[in-house]
Amino acid sequence: MYYTRSMIVCLTLHALHAVCEHDNGDIIDLTYTFDENTLFFPGHEGFVQEILHRGTYGPLWFESNRIETGEHTGTHMDAPAHLREGQLRIEAVPASHLVGPGVKVDISSKASMDPDAQVEINDIMAWEEENGRIPDGAIVMMFSGWGKFYPNRTAYFGSDRNDSYTDENDVSLLNFPGFSTPAAEWLVENRNIVGVGVDTSSLDFGQSTNFSSHVVFFEQNIFGLENVANLDKMPTTGSTIYALPMKIKDGSGAPVRIIAIVNDDVINGVSATASNYFLTFIAFFIVFVYKILF
Ligand SMILES: [Zn+2]
Repeated sequence: MYYTRSMIVCLTLHALHAVCEHDNGDIIDLTYTFDENTLFFPGHEGFVQEILHRGTYGPLWFESNRIETGEHTGTHMDAPAHLREGQLRIEAVPASHLVGPGVKVDISSKASMDPDAQVEINDIMAWEEENGRIPDGAIVMMFSGWGKFYPNRTAYFGSDRNDSYTDENDVSLLNFPGFSTPAAEWLVENRNIVGVGVDTSSLDFGQSTNFSSHVVFFEQNIFGLENVANLDKMPTTGSTIYALPMKIKDGSGAPVRIIAIVNDDVINGVSATASNYFLTFIAFFIVFVYKILF
């Protein structure tokens, strides 16, 4: 009998703990690891790490390496100067723009049927209908599902060439989703966002050769995030994104560490404060019932 009672109390507490637990799932790493497999847009540079010292150094253990990378390699930030003369270079992007509410526009179902799919105005309309107006200062991410191909170059880009993205007739060899130019124009004209991101290699879709969505965003000094990882794990709304690029003087872009912290009220589907009150109430209730019955 004693064991049964203990078991009931234990199981109840265990279940409550599982419901309210705030584990590492609250912080989502949106960054790919930099290594020899790191992908880069055709014509750009890869990532190289040279070991300078890895071993004992007198009485110490000592590791130190040298790295070499293109600015637009792996998970990186495009500064507005990248494709628009006179706009902000990477060190001048205001720190206040590097943190903002996360918005995830999911086009993965149409992208699974069409690698040239784009975020269109109606995708943004549909997002707002369900989640409310895109908040000021937001960082808007396209989720196309392309992360599942990373780091397979052929599948991710639609081409295995790393020297050029066009053929001899200037037609793009690449196929992957991106932001359509009308959607980019709608966002900059109607909403007050600070950045955009994609789980592909370019803000513009693979078939673009004029990169006009890039230009539309950069004209308003809105930065871009490319090769963003783990967007399948980021919630549609209710997260705060931190996108912190290496601060390179006169950089056109830079490697960036991006994380999304899920807001407390999203974790349990109810306000965290309310769930704490609820927990306390249940705990008192269990003790009360226990005292009365046993
Ligand atoms: Zn770039």
